[in-house]
Amino acid sequence: MFSFLFRGSCFLCRGAAENLLCADCFADLPRLPSPACPRCALASPNGATCGRCLAEPPPYDATVAALAYAFPADVLVQALKFRGELALAPFLGSLLFRKIESVDLVVPVPLSRERLRERGYNQAVEIARASGRPLELGLCTRERHTPQQADLPWSERQKNVRGAFACTRRLDGKSVAVVDDVMTTGATLAEVAATLKSAGASRVVNWVVARTLPPHD
Ligand SMILES: [Zn+2]
Ligand SMILES: [Zn+2]
Repeated sequence: MFSFLFRGSCFLCRGAAENLLCADCFADLPRLPSPACPRCALASPNGATCGRCLAEPPPYDATVAALAYAFPADVLVQALKFRGELALAPFLGSLLFRKIESVDLVVPVPLSRERLRERGYNQAVEIARASGRPLELGLCTRERHTPQQADLPWSERQKNVRGAFACTRRLDGKSVAVVDDVMTTGATLAEVAATLKSAGASRVVNWVVARTLPPHD
């Protein structure tokens, strides 16, 4: 099921490449708007906390994203998630883990047991491994098998994940980083952060490979 990438040719255009992507495709990777809100990673004048995060503060304290979720970053993320291209995980992770703060614990967003069985791996775990830090794999669990967020309209995603996660021990005063491949509405990450905060975590930061920009941007 897992494929391995050939050395010497670009994953996207198949042209000659010294790395996983050729220099042109690498330069084409979509960057996030700057300055951005430190809390949600969307555009914000002066890099201050944005109006949305001020009006309705999310349970997470910060979001770091490597790329915007747009072509061709979406191709890479989907190949990792759905086609078992696991060699993309250290590559995408290396873009992300350039700019992170130090935290007490690193937690990949868990999959349900059903989804893990179906897919055979958790892409968030594969990405988190590239951080080079010990991972807390049993700390946060997915209690409920829910429909894929990607299959639902944005308005239903928050309800879909409510109560979906549990924390297996107290985290009093700890700072925690939560790793995922894509942040779209942030509903899943908000639910994970709320779960970690209820267990006592003092700070929760999202580390995501790609951030979906609002449709009107
Ligand atoms: Zn290329
Ligand atoms: Zn914000």
